[in-house]
Amino acid sequence: MPKEYDLVIIGAGTGGYTAAVKAAKEGLKTAVVEKDREGGTCLHQGCIPSKALLKSAEMYREMQESAQYGISASDVTLQFDKVQSRKDTVVEQLHRGVKSLMNKDSIDIYKGTGRILGPSIFSPRAGTISVERNDEQENAMLLPKHVMIATGSRPRQFPGLEADGTTIMTSDHALELNELPASIIIVGGGVIGVEFASMMSDFGVEVTVIENTSRLLPQEDQDVAKEMEKSLKNRGVHIYTAGNVLEKKYSDEDSVTLQVEQNGQPFELTAGKVLLCIGRQANIEDIGIENTDIETENGVVVTDGAGRTKETHIYAIGDVRGGMQLAHTASREGINAVEDMLMRMPEPVDPARVPRCTYSRPETASIGWTQEQAENRYEYVKVSRVPFQALGRAVVQGKTEGFVKFVVNGANDDLLGVHMFGDGVTELISEASLAMLVDAANTELAETIHPHPSLSEIFGEAALAVENRAIHF
Ligand SMILES: Cc1cc2nc3c(=O)[nH]c(=O)nc-3n(C[C@H](O)[C@H](O)[C@H](O)COP(=O)(O)OP(=O)(O)OC[C@H]3O[C@@H](n4cnc5c(N)ncnc54)[C@H](O)[C@@H]3O)c2cc1C
Repeated sequence: MPKEYDLVIIGAGTGGYTAAVKAAKEGLKTAVVEKDREGGTCLHQGCIPSKALLKSAEMYREMQESAQYGISASDVTLQFDKVQSRKDTVVEQLHRGVKSLMNKDSIDIYKGTGRILGPSIFSPRAGTISVERNDEQENAMLLPKHVMIATGSRPRQFPGLEADGTTIMTSDHALELNELPASIIIVGGGVIGVEFASMMSDFGVEVTVIENTSRLLPQEDQDVAKEMEKSLKNRGVHIYTAGNVLEKKYSDEDSVTLQVEQNGQPFELTAGKVLLCIGRQANIEDIGIENTDIETENGVVVTDGAGRTKETHIYAIGDVRGGMQLAHTASREGINAVEDMLMRMPEPVDPARVPRCTYSRPETASIGWTQEQAENRYEYVKVSRVPFQALGRAVVQGKTEGFVKFVVNGANDDLLGVHMFGDGVTELISEASLAMLVDAANTELAETIHPHPSLSEIFGEAALAVENRAIHF
């Protein structure tokens, strides 16, 4: 007989495990089916391992540049095997944390592949879950009142340039490299491509980026994208925007040659490795969607604002639902779906209030509308831009590159967007996130007292600058 649950979640990534803990804390009898490791992409192939490697890359670069702080460090040596083992230790520590969170809340974890079955003798509606176990336990049948699909996504493949894990890699492979190549071509200049470009360049790899739109970070404000391009170029990264990979000309164990074109001009590029960063594809196959009335569109599961699919007892959250494929969106959507099951009518996630970060050196962080988007939506838009150069703390830190840009509705003083490029901005963005949540007016940000000296002072200055009242700029 199937085991009964209030909620069964397929996938224990960021979205799935967060929803499971939330549901268990609310008293719902909860099970999670996970075919790989708890923590999903974010913990094992995404946010955490990439940031651990980026941290080592940044340390390596900073130690080489330590003379500016009066410290001479000779013989700065990169031991990439140790960099990788530190990253593995970080991931393992957090993996243990996720497992213990789920154990503490008495969530049943089934290791294996979960599939949704159609109506059966157990249930008149789609939703019984079959679990094909991969932990030597017997396969299982689970009968939940609610189902949550949280199966995430995987790297998108490039037709004709399929990743083989050796010379042609996805981000999954690049995070597990045993040694660094002398050179790398990164196909795709979005967030993941830019993070790898920054990391590889700091590790001393010769980096080329090919991006098929007219600029890096196409989702970001133009000013941020432009500065990022300038900064990477200053570090010796070769960047081809409006560039396309036409085909693979040649590859052997040590190198790959690609036929590329930019502005109609074909040319060849050769490097030790190619890294594909061209987006993510939702995991909608082999989970039994065909046994249900659930709709999919453009490769993602269609839901309403609360995450309900067309089968209203089946929810989908996180990357499998498309949209902003970010860990913090996945976890919020998971929490909201549980709230919806409890009939609490949560506010849908508003993409204009979700922070977006690139953990390169320097970083980018933003929230809300870009200047261009705001000008298309509102009649009277005011903009300010304040450089970190104006701040004592930035000068002290030796990190004056970058700026903060505010986009404000001139008609009512509403903050419409905040866009930042600079050291530490991925931490600063949370102030803008809170400001937007509580609908703070620009003048309220100007009145907020920020500690001195701190990078956060730039918020007050940027808010004042909207009214041409900035003190330090
Ligand atoms: C290199 C890289 C860097 C990133 N950096 C960031 C970052 O800095 N910040 C950020 O917010 N986001 C980042 N992301 C994105 C982030 O990792 C994802 O948005 C997030 O992991 C999505 O969570 P999820 O729960 O939807 O899916 P996932 O984390 O992908 O989890 C899905 C889980 O479902 C399991 N699963 C799939 N099918 C089945 C099945 N049939 N049965 C059982 N289990 C199944 C999978 O094994 C997996 O564990 C990054 C991604 C990459 C690739």
